[in-house]
Amino acid sequence: MTPLAVHLFLCYNCLHNFEIKFFIIVQHKTFFMKLSNNRFCLNCGLPVYGRADKKYCDDHCRNDFHNNRAVHNSRLTRLTHKKLRRNYEILSGVMQAGVSEIPKDELLVYGFQIKSVTESELREDGTMIYGIYDIHYFEKPNRLIEVYRKSDVPSYW
Ligand SMILES: [Zn+2]
Repeated sequence: MTPLAVHLFLCYNCLHNFEIKFFIIVQHKTFFMKLSNNRFCLNCGLPVYGRADKKYCDDHCRNDFHNNRAVHNSRLTRLTHKKLRRNYEILSGVMQAGVSEIPKDELLVYGFQIKSVTESELREDGTMIYGIYDIHYFEKPNRLIEVYRKSDVPSYW
């Protein structure tokens, strides 16, 4: 109830108390204003009443909305992260085996995803260098992939 509604309005003629009538008018104006806002909860779609910048019915809807968005975003990135992790594991395995060159087809058999890299760079000699975190690789003309740590750039460069 608004503070205005507790005021007493007395008719000087009949001494009738208008407090209740005034309260109804205030409520009616508020109700009309709420209906004309045309705002709906971003979570459940029900009409939103109250402050002009209010976006959700209540705290429950606000939390629900943000949680759902976080879940959606993590679904989008999870698959990419999974591919990058797998690629990194494969290249790490190659390096741990003490090998610096591996046939491209062998990488593909292990499940290597060519398009999933964290960086790429075109060298002046036309060689495309790909990187997955700190491991870099490039393809040689004979379909061999040379793998090296970013810190250990091949000596002939
Ligand atoms: Zn809602």
